[in-house]
Amino acid sequence: MTVYVKGVVFEGVDFDDPKHWGIEAYMARGGYTALKKILSTGMTQDEIIAEMKTSGLRGRGGAGFPTGLKWSFMPRSFPGQKYLVCNTDEGEPGTFKDLDIIVDNPHALIEGMIIGGFAMGITVGYNYIHGEVFEAYERFEAALEEARAAGFLGDNILGTSFCFQLHGHHGYGAYICGEETALLESLEGKKGQPRFKPPFPASFGLYGKPTTINNTETFASVPYIIREGGQKFLELGKPNNGGTKLFSVSGHVNRPGNYEIPLGTPFSELLEMCGGMRDGKKLKAVIPGGSSAPVLPADIMMQCTMDYDSISKAGSMLGSGAVIVMDETTCMVKALERLSYFYFEESCGQCTPCREGTGWLYRVVHRIEQGLGRPEDLDLLLSVGGNIAGRTICALGDAAVMPVQGMLKHFRSEFEHHIEHKQCLVPGF
Ligand code: SF4
Repeated sequence: MTVYVKGVVFEGVDFDDPKHWGIEAYMARGGYTALKKILSTGMTQDEIIAEMKTSGLRGRGGAGFPTGLKWSFMPRSFPGQKYLVCNTDEGEPGTFKDLDIIVDNPHALIEGMIIGGFAMGITVGYNYIHGEVFEAYERFEAALEEARAAGFLGDNILGTSFCFQLHGHHGYGAYICGEETALLESLEGKKGQPRFKPPFPASFGLYGKPTTINNTETFASVPYIIREGGQKFLELGKPNNGGTKLFSVSGHVNRPGNYEIPLGTPFSELLEMCGGMRDGKKLKAVIPGGSSAPVLPADIMMQCTMDYDSISKAGSMLGSGAVIVMDETTCMVKALERLSYFYFEESCGQCTPCREGTGWLYRVVHRIEQGLGRPEDLDLLLSVGGNIAGRTICALGDAAVMPVQGMLKHFRSEFEHHIEHKQCLVPGF
């Protein structure tokens, strides 16, 4: 379910119209006017990148890196082939927004990628789509066909000298393929394992060529920015947190789904939009930015606004915008056991601290949950985490550690109760 409140990605989409995703409906709500604008007015690459910088758009995949700045890293005078890649390998627990974009508004993404290609002088793009989703992949392919037939993709777009080829790529369903260099390896047909960095993709990306990688929601925000201006997008949000954002809300709320709202909206308002807590239960905790973000207790979360700065100040991360809401009946030991298993299972096994450490984290949390924990286990968890964080090739190692640290920081007494009494503190668990 997608709920449009205010924003740019789903603006004007009539979800009741079965063809709302198609090119006719997209053009009727202003689609492809941004592309026509840059091609007909002679807008330069520098002007487009400047507009992106003005917008304050930060990467919507999780890292929050400024998009305009990333685009400026692409060496425009590079003589050979360069690539543009969209990361739709959405697979983190709690995150389900990008697939809705592909299913419900794929042309916004396509137009955003074409504009990105023009701005960086790139003529070939790929959209890497998570391997376990078929409807989204087929929808994207259908939208590509429409865009090609309308002259927005291919050679001499709209009669100009600008050419841009865009291809969909169905991935393999591994979480690690969402890590940008593992994605590139996978796209090249190899095992999806992260590369050592540097070199970074801007200089050594797909097939060793300069490559820019952005998230689906990031690209889908571009047409609005070019059409309406970066300043207008910025003002939808708050300083340093420009625009609106999709939040995937799951867990113990009455109406889970994707909510597109301005950055800076109080969490309490988002919770109201979701119909409040399910069955009138009390809010206990929230993971505000996908499974790797440290959990925040209710009292802290209720003081937060939904933007990068507020959530970071509270000790967590906005990440991809996956908001996992937990009520008073949630056992935090069980919750952490599930999260730890995920990272253990999804580690690519390439580096020892992650391959071995994620197994240690899972097994120790599992034995605490089973009533077999020892008093020294909590310090052991922190010690193992300390030996993973910052010592791995990619961020999955850190991502496995942060939920452990967050849970022990805010809910240590629940873990101690499990160890001491060999049962859960939460009634009924
Ligand atoms: Fe693979 Fe984990 Fe190392 Fe990342 S941190 S490269 S997932 S083993």
